[in-house]
Amino acid sequence: MLDRSTIWPYQDGEPGEFYYQRYAHPAGVEAERMLGELEGGHALLFPSGSAATTALLLMLLEPGKTVALADDAYYGTSVLVRLLERWGLRLVEFAQTGVPPQDADLVWVEAPSNPLLTMPDFEAAAAHPAPVVCDSTAATPVYLRPLERGADFVLHSATKFLGGHHDVLLGAVVSKQREDHERLLELRSRTGIVAAPDAAWLLNRSLKTLSVRVERQTATATELARRLEGHPAVERVRYPGFGGLMSFDVTGGADAARRVETSTKLIKNATSLGGVESVLETRGRWEPGRVPENLVRLSVGLEDVDTLWEDVEQGLDA
Ligand code: PLP
Repeated sequence: MLDRSTIWPYQDGEPGEFYYQRYAHPAGVEAERMLGELEGGHALLFPSGSAATTALLLMLLEPGKTVALADDAYYGTSVLVRLLERWGLRLVEFAQTGVPPQDADLVWVEAPSNPLLTMPDFEAAAAHPAPVVCDSTAATPVYLRPLERGADFVLHSATKFLGGHHDVLLGAVVSKQREDHERLLELRSRTGIVAAPDAAWLLNRSLKTLSVRVERQTATATELARRLEGHPAVERVRYPGFGGLMSFDVTGGADAARRVETSTKLIKNATSLGGVESVLETRGRWEPGRVPENLVRLSVGLEDVDTLWEDVEQGLDA
């Protein structure tokens, strides 16, 4: 049952587990329990992945501190850290397949990166003295448990695969250490950067099907990547071998890529990723200069693989 209460009566004159929604609510606690179990840590929900990033940066850093961010991480993360430069944070970008810069106070990697699909060098990140955050949005805990690879925090845009249906905006941080979790909970409670019960309830629904969804998406994406590799209008395919996210470069530059994204019929020309319905878009529109102008990002849903291929193929032939 979804409980939207903002208050719950005290028990024998004292606050119980739930008393004011900003601190905790039943749907949120249940989703956090499930996600914490999946990742092997302590989870907290936030109203979006970006809100989770903001809260974690505020909790871990202070003016003068430096964030070393994977240079191919979700572009919005770098935009957000730059925004916080006004409050004294510094941003340095580095190639996450190598060693993070020495002078960093926080190391931020993404597995696999969106949309270039590189994987971080976990050993190199873990060897760094600074805390390590792994944005594991595209991997999901089905394929990767970053806390077991040396990360101190896992971050999710739960808007993507965890939510899985393009119907909920949500984020999460999973902390390895209970003390970090408590500090983040305190910051969340005080700032009020809290996810609503409806959103948490939708995540509870979605987590029940997470492994079934992403395993099917992996099977389909693996086959689509194989077929794309053999297509003459495709220069390059990026797929890490798991998950529903891939990207490919189209022969003929930005115009050709634009024709592909506007020619598919079943696959929606839309942003975001991780839903049961496939979507694709050129990424140059959002992050020109950071990605090839002919790059098309494809998030594979649960549709039939041959039907999807037919759609991709007619898009490439357009
Ligand atoms: N991290 C990754 C890898 C993403 O792809 C996104 C969104 O596209 C975010 C974080 C931000 O999440 P949200 O859109 O839920 O704020």
